[in-house]
Amino acid sequence: MKKFLRAVFLVDLIEGLWVTFRNQKPSLIYTEQYPAERPKVAERYRGAPRLNINPDNGETLCIACNLCALACPERLIVVTSERNEETRRKELTTFTYDTSRCMFCGLCEDACPVDALELTQDFELATYTREGQIWDRQMLEEGPRPTQYTH
Ligand code: SF4
Ligand code: SF4
Repeated sequence: MKKFLRAVFLVDLIEGLWVTFRNQKPSLIYTEQYPAERPKVAERYRGAPRLNINPDNGETLCIACNLCALACPERLIVVTSERNEETRRKELTTFTYDTSRCMFCGLCEDACPVDALELTQDFELATYTREGQIWDRQMLEEGPRPTQYTH
């Protein structure tokens, strides 16, 4: 009988609406004004990859050891290099990173012995084409440049 009366008088509906309206206070509403205001991401967030350069001489920190490419379960990093006959050291020539296949696990940056490869807190990785998701060395060094909106 009680159940029947609750159904007739729409008690459950009214209770649900009460919960909804009780939480409509402007002070309780939180809307992120993205992209005008950029959200803070967690300190340990892993986002856009970056190939670090030495700030003193502008040269890449990458020693072309290929460890990041070997560590990647997706095999999406391709590193090429050539041997400098004078120094006998390998020098980086190209570095590509397919962000569309990356799961941001961080194994590549962990494998890097010189902290050249880093997953940053940049999270705006959207592109209009699939090809645009394959970052070359220049893109990795300069980083993404998303549109900055203002009020
Ligand atoms: S974050 Fe993971 S999936 Fe992405 S490139 Fe590095 S190792 Fe590969
Ligand atoms: S592991 Fe580091 S140093 Fe080695 S190729 Fe990758 S980015 Fe360069």
